[in-house]
Amino acid sequence: FKSKFPKLDIPNIDLPQYCFMEGKRRYCQSRNRLDFAIRDAITGKSMDIYEIESMSIQFASGLVNILGFKKDEVVALFSPNSIYFPIVSFGTMMAGGSITLANHTYTSRELLHQLADSNTKVIATESGLLDTVLKAIKMGNLDIPISKIILIDINPTHTKHGATHIEHFYSNAPVSISRIESKTDAETRVAAIPYSSGTTGVAKGVMLTHKNLITAVIMNSCFSVYDNWFDRKNNPPVYICALPFYHIYGFNSILNLGIANSIGIIVMQRFQIESFLSHIEQYKAEFVNLVPPLVTQISKYPNITNYNLSSIKAIRTGSAPTGKDSLARFYSIFKNIGVVRAYGLTETSPTVVQTLKNHPNDGSSGTLHSNVEAKVVDIDGNQLGYNQVGELCFRGPSIMKGYLNNPEANAKSFDSENFFHTGDIGFVDEKENFHITGRIKELIKYKGFQVPPAELEGLLLKNDNVADSAVIGVYDGEQDTELPKAYIVLASKHSHLSKIKKDQIAQEAKAWLETQVAPHKKLRGGISVIDEIPKNPSGKILRHILKDMDTEN
Ligand code: AMP
Repeated sequence: FKSKFPKLDIPNIDLPQYCFMEGKRRYCQSRNRLDFAIRDAITGKSMDIYEIESMSIQFASGLVNILGFKKDEVVALFSPNSIYFPIVSFGTMMAGGSITLANHTYTSRELLHQLADSNTKVIATESGLLDTVLKAIKMGNLDIPISKIILIDINPTHTKHGATHIEHFYSNAPVSISRIESKTDAETRVAAIPYSSGTTGVAKGVMLTHKNLITAVIMNSCFSVYDNWFDRKNNPPVYICALPFYHIYGFNSILNLGIANSIGIIVMQRFQIESFLSHIEQYKAEFVNLVPPLVTQISKYPNITNYNLSSIKAIRTGSAPTGKDSLARFYSIFKNIGVVRAYGLTETSPTVVQTLKNHPNDGSSGTLHSNVEAKVVDIDGNQLGYNQVGELCFRGPSIMKGYLNNPEANAKSFDSENFFHTGDIGFVDEKENFHITGRIKELIKYKGFQVPPAELEGLLLKNDNVADSAVIGVYDGEQDTELPKAYIVLASKHSHLSKIKKDQIAQEAKAWLETQVAPHKKLRGGISVIDEIPKNPSGKILRHILKDMDTEN
């Protein structure tokens, strides 16, 4: 399948250069200019595009001139949403490095995996997370001295344990900005390394090149998604972003909207429904980014009529399926607004399929983005036609370069025609709308957050009372999300115990597991003891049998 949209030219330059050039152009075209590109929702602290650009250069200078940062080295961003994200990200790229984005709710164990795997040299974090960072560094014996930890708290009043705040780190010493001038450079130099478990196993570094991310920005801008709804020249739009910036969906929204599209971002650290709705009212926001469970939560919120939300012109939702009923309820509250439904993966930067204005509520995720090709294949790799269900595969300039240091996963993910195999199943209807119907990969998504079953299974096996384990996703209709649920086989020493006692041991294993992982990986679907984990002859867990068991119960 080929996109119906005209092919777009993607320049071979670097991401900061593109975003600042486009952002400033659009900013200058506006008649009524916003006085900020990004603003903290609580403190009101804000920056315009020129300030972000000059601070990014000063951050790059600090990295190079103070810390001796070198080309292709990695900076980790481990923080809740913050107005400093664009500065650290663009500054790192200007210094010739890559930014790895870590979930700020990670435990030290989870963080260490990412820091060690990505060979991080510098960490930008908040002082409240410093203990987690220092514990991770100590656990892994990593060579990251305190001088290479930069704090990005919104209030720069304190330094902690000798870590410097970004406001005191900027340097005015000259720095030669790392530029990309050739096609090869654009296609190979890595700008960002978010983490994703892919089809199997634990979190892997996803290498997104400058070309990948510029493609994502251009595809989103040129798809007329925003221009169709907003009168940007006269009323530059504002949008509220409560989705995490460490996930590619939130991260790109800073680049696509706040910077390259010159749409003002109000940054919330987390989604909290009352303040989210108040901010829409206060800032007369025209746009919000959501995930399906939030669409459901908002559409069911009893006090919704207490807020004046008439400024909203469009929303975007993706990262998990948006239920038809939930969307219908949403439309009954927000009449005449545009809903962009999108499908994609961290590995695809992320959007590859998206609905346009006035797309019917047909359960699909829309049509192919420009420059992207797709195929649907059966289990033997044979290509399928319209309405035939199979694995969705994509090829194009927004698809990742590959998983970091993981040739095995790369060999499994890309076929001989260079199509990326998503592990998602679905079909394409005659109108070329893509319908995502399920997954053949292991991944569970709790409210849009990735939960890799293999990681939880590996941890459960470390518990002396557990002989075997399998983790699956069970659907919760009320919250419109999957919940991770574990099945365990107890160690043989417990075989004589009563059911009540066995369940108690299982609950203890669950409680222990939850001390080891970030909150979104908790076993909210519960834990059950069974006699045997169903597996095929080669030892692969037959998850569909467990899912069927769960549905029957
Ligand atoms: P992530 O890399 O965290 O963005 O997760 C990507 C996965 O989320 C995909 O492989 C899908 O399983 C799921 N996903 C993303 N968007 C959609 C959508 N619109 N409908 C159904 N599943 C989706």
